[in-house]
Amino acid sequence: MDEVLLREAGLRVTAPRLAVLEALHGHGHLDADQVLTAVRERLPQVSVQAVYDVLHALTGAGLLRRIEPAGHPSRYERRVGDNHHHVVCRSCGAIDDVDCTVGHAPCLVPSSTSGFSIETAEVTYWGLCPACRR
Ligand SMILES: [Zn+2]
Ligand SMILES: [Zn+2]
Repeated sequence: MDEVLLREAGLRVTAPRLAVLEALHGHGHLDADQVLTAVRERLPQVSVQAVYDVLHALTGAGLLRRIEPAGHPSRYERRVGDNHHHVVCRSCGAIDDVDCTVGHAPCLVPSSTSGFSIETAEVTYWGLCPACRR
């Protein structure tokens, strides 16, 4: 399954690439350190740089999406191409998905486009997660 995804994206199938995809399977939004920890359960010898290289390649190929909340480490996820947004806890950095408000990109219409043709809108909702509200 993941082998097919890699091949269709024009990427060679390698053990680190498969392990990174596996690490992100079913878990939303992991930062590079969390991905590294998960990958090392399968591939104890893998280097930090190798994991960063894989994250870069997979993101560039559109198999992963990188979210960069200001003041927090970048997160990676496998849910790509559906124009969803994120809610981020400003205290602990917890992150969750928010479905696209309209259902298609761009889901926000700017009041002025300055002549740009608008393709997508990335919305980050900031607040406090349930744990931090207590
Ligand atoms: Zn929190
Ligand atoms: Zn997401």
